[in-house]
Amino acid sequence: MSAAGAPGAVGVPGGPAPVDDGVYRIHWVPGTDRLLAVCFCGEKREFEDPVELWDWLLAHPEHGA
Ligand SMILES: [Zn+2]
Repeated sequence: MSAAGAPGAVGVPGGPAPVDDGVYRIHWVPGTDRLLAVCFCGEKREFEDPVELWDWLLAHPEHGA
């Protein structure tokens, strides 16, 4: 016999979803529309646009260190 049934994942209502891929961390800043990106080098920066946020994170060498 095989187990059946695939319950759908429950979506998160409203607001950007936090991302954590183990290297970069992105936190939603409560009370704002901003996201706080934390690079593995320790650099932090706030963004309103997730695209800009990822551009910044992926441009890591530009953070220095
Ligand atoms: Zn960095």
